[in-house]
Amino acid sequence: MDLQATARAVAAALAAARRVAFITGAGISAESGLPTYRGVGGLYNEMTIDEGLPIEEILSGGTFARDPALTWKYIFEIERACRGAAPNDAHRLIAALERRCEVWVVTQNVDGFHREAGSTNVIELHGNLSELFCLVCGARSQCRTFDGLALPPRCADCGGLLRPDVVLFGEMLPERAVRRYEIEMTRGFDVVFSVGTTAAFPYVYGPVVEASEAGLTTVEINPDRTLLSDVVTHRLAAGALVSLRAIVDALGP
Ligand code: NAD
Ligand code: ZN
Repeated sequence: MDLQATARAVAAALAAARRVAFITGAGISAESGLPTYRGVGGLYNEMTIDEGLPIEEILSGGTFARDPALTWKYIFEIERACRGAAPNDAHRLIAALERRCEVWVVTQNVDGFHREAGSTNVIELHGNLSELFCLVCGARSQCRTFDGLALPPRCADCGGLLRPDVVLFGEMLPERAVRRYEIEMTRGFDVVFSVGTTAAFPYVYGPVVEASEAGLTTVEINPDRTLLSDVVTHRLAAGALVSLRAIVDALGP
C-alpha cells in the first residue's frame, strides 16, 4: 500500500478511536534537526571521546558517581548539539489530536518537545534534560540552556552537585513515569503508534506487540524497518512529519 492509502486506513481507525497512544523516539525530533542516537548521523558517532571510553560508560550512573565532571562534560556536549532546536509540526500534529480524542504520549526523548508543542498527557520515560536537581538538598530548577554553566554545576542553595533529571545508562527508569505508563496501558488504547524509534527496549516493543496481539490497531512510522515492522497493523515507511500530515489530512477537519 502506498503512503496515502495507508494514511487513509489509519485515519479511519483514528476517527473511531477514544484513546490513542503515541510511543515516540529520537526520529520524531530528527525533524527538528536533532541527531538521533543510533545509526546515520548518530550523536555519539561524531563525538570525539578524549578519554577513550565508550560513551555508554561515560554517560552511566556509575561514572557519574565516581567522576561527575567527566559525565557532565559529555552531557554538556549533547545539550550543545541540541541547542536552539524547537518542536516541529510532527509534535504539534500529535498535540492537536487532543481536540478529537484522549491522547497519551510516551517518549524516550529527553528534549521536552512534546510538552512544548502542547501535548498535556506526556510520559517521559528517560526524563528531561532541562530539569536539574540537587543531589544534596533535592532543589529542582529549570535550565533552558547549559551555555555558560560552570561544570560540574552546583546548587545555588547548598552548593551540592546538580544533575539533569535524565536516566543515565545502567539506571532505573523513573518510578512515577513507569507506573503511569502501566496504568494507562491497562486502561487500554484503541490505536497505538510507534513513531521514530528503533523500539530496542522491551518497554517500547512489548506494549505494541501486546496491542497487536489483542487485535488493536497498531501503526509504525519510521523510514527504516525495526523489530515492530512485521508486527504492526499499518506501517508508514516515511518520516514522522510527512506521515502524520498525511494521516491528519485524511482525517479531515
Ligand atoms: P534511535 O536513535 O535508536 O532510533 C531513531 C529511529 O528514528 C530510527 O529507527 C530511525 O530510522 C528513525 N528515524 C530517523 N529519522 C526519522 C524521521 N524523520 N521520522 C521518523 N523516524 C525517523 O532512537 P530511540 O529509539 O529513541 O532510542 C534512543 C535513545 O537515545 C533513547 O534512550 C533516548 O532517550 C536517547 N535520545 C534522545 C534524543 C532526544 O531527546 N531528541 C535524541 C537522541 C537520543
Ligand atoms: Zn542543594
